[in-house]
Amino acid sequence: MTERGGTRAGAKRRQDLINRSLPICWLCDQPIDTTLPGTHPQGAHRHHKQPIVLGGTDTQANEALVHARCNLTAGDLPAEHSQAFVKQRLGLTTTPQPQTRDWGIG
Ligand SMILES: [Zn+2]
Repeated sequence: MTERGGTRAGAKRRQDLINRSLPICWLCDQPIDTTLPGTHPQGAHRHHKQPIVLGGTDTQANEALVHARCNLTAGDLPAEHSQAFVKQRLGLTTTPQPQTRDWGIG
Protein backbone atom coordinates (compact mmCIF):
# COMPACT_ATOMS: atom_id res chain seq x y z
CA MET A 1 0.00 0.00 0.00
CA THR A 2 1.22 3.50 -0.74
CA GLU A 3 1.24 5.99 2.07
CA ARG A 4 -1.61 8.46 1.95
CA GLY A 5 -3.03 10.95 4.46
CA GLY A 6 -5.11 8.41 6.29
CA THR A 7 -2.30 6.10 7.34
CA ARG A 8 -1.05 5.81 10.90
CA ALA A 9 2.29 7.35 9.88
CA GLY A 10 0.48 10.25 8.24
CA ALA A 11 -1.67 10.79 11.32
CA LYS A 12 1.42 10.86 13.53
CA ARG A 13 3.18 13.42 11.34
CA ARG A 14 0.02 15.55 11.39
CA GLN A 15 -0.11 15.34 15.19
CA ASP A 16 3.61 16.15 15.47
CA LEU A 17 3.06 19.23 13.32
CA ILE A 18 0.08 20.31 15.45
CA ASN A 19 2.17 19.88 18.61
CA ARG A 20 4.96 22.17 17.45
CA SER A 21 2.93 24.75 15.51
CA LEU A 22 0.81 27.73 16.38
CA PRO A 23 -2.78 26.79 15.54
CA ILE A 24 -2.84 29.31 12.69
CA CYS A 25 -3.43 28.35 9.08
CA TRP A 26 -0.35 29.05 6.94
CA LEU A 27 -2.57 29.60 3.91
CA CYS A 28 -5.33 31.88 5.23
CA ASP A 29 -3.89 33.17 8.56
CA GLN A 30 -7.07 32.17 10.40
CA PRO A 31 -7.09 30.13 13.65
CA ILE A 32 -7.43 26.37 13.42
CA ASP A 33 -9.37 24.27 15.95
CA THR A 34 -6.88 21.42 16.22
CA THR A 35 -9.38 19.32 18.17
CA LEU A 36 -11.40 18.84 14.97
CA PRO A 37 -10.65 15.73 12.91
CA GLY A 38 -8.70 16.08 9.69
CA THR A 39 -11.83 15.06 7.81
CA HIS A 40 -13.60 18.27 8.95
CA PRO A 41 -13.29 21.23 6.53
CA GLN A 42 -11.95 23.38 9.40
CA GLY A 43 -9.77 20.59 10.78
CA ALA A 44 -5.98 20.68 10.67
CA HIS A 45 -4.08 19.32 7.68
CA ARG A 46 -0.37 18.97 7.03
CA HIS A 47 0.41 21.02 3.94
CA HIS A 48 3.50 21.10 1.74
CA LYS A 49 4.26 24.80 1.13
CA GLN A 50 5.99 23.85 -2.10
CA PRO A 51 4.08 20.86 -3.54
CA ILE A 52 6.04 17.64 -3.91
CA VAL A 53 5.00 17.48 -7.58
CA LEU A 54 6.71 20.87 -8.07
CA GLY A 55 9.94 19.76 -6.42
CA GLY A 56 9.07 20.46 -2.79
CA THR A 57 10.61 18.23 -0.15
CA ASP A 58 8.79 16.13 2.43
CA THR A 59 10.60 17.82 5.32
CA GLN A 60 9.62 19.90 8.37
CA ALA A 61 10.96 23.01 6.61
CA ASN A 62 8.45 22.55 3.81
CA GLU A 63 5.41 21.59 5.87
CA ALA A 64 2.85 23.87 7.43
CA LEU A 65 -0.33 23.53 9.45
CA VAL A 66 -3.41 24.53 7.45
CA HIS A 67 -7.18 24.00 7.36
CA ALA A 68 -8.38 20.97 5.42
CA ARG A 69 -10.45 23.27 3.17
CA CYS A 70 -7.45 25.51 2.51
CA ASN A 71 -5.24 22.54 1.70
CA LEU A 72 -7.78 21.34 -0.84
CA THR A 73 -8.26 24.86 -2.24
CA ALA A 74 -4.52 25.39 -2.69
CA GLY A 75 -4.09 22.04 -4.42
CA ASP A 76 -0.70 21.91 -6.13
CA LEU A 77 -0.21 25.65 -6.52
CA PRO A 78 3.40 26.77 -5.94
CA ALA A 79 4.21 28.28 -2.52
CA GLU A 80 4.47 31.82 -3.87
CA HIS A 81 0.88 31.74 -5.16
CA SER A 82 -1.04 29.43 -2.82
CA GLN A 83 -1.58 31.88 0.10
CA ALA A 84 -2.91 34.70 -2.07
CA PHE A 85 -5.10 32.28 -4.01
CA VAL A 86 -6.67 30.76 -0.88
CA LYS A 87 -7.29 34.17 0.72
CA GLN A 88 -8.92 35.40 -2.45
CA ARG A 89 -11.12 32.31 -2.65
CA LEU A 90 -12.16 32.75 1.00
CA GLY A 91 -12.77 36.48 0.57
CA LEU A 92 -9.92 37.31 2.96
CA THR A 93 -7.83 39.30 0.54
CA THR A 94 -6.39 42.44 2.08
CA THR A 95 -6.05 44.29 -1.19
CA PRO A 96 -8.65 47.04 -1.53
CA GLN A 97 -11.71 46.14 -3.51
CA PRO A 98 -12.11 48.02 -6.80
CA GLN A 99 -14.16 51.16 -6.46
CA THR A 100 -17.67 51.16 -7.82
CA ARG A 101 -17.39 51.41 -11.53
CA ASP A 102 -18.21 54.73 -13.11
CA TRP A 103 -21.11 53.83 -15.31
CA GLY A 104 -21.13 57.23 -16.99
CA ILE A 105 -24.46 58.14 -15.44
CA GLY A 106 -24.99 61.62 -14.00
ZN1 LIG B 1 -6.98 28.17 6.32
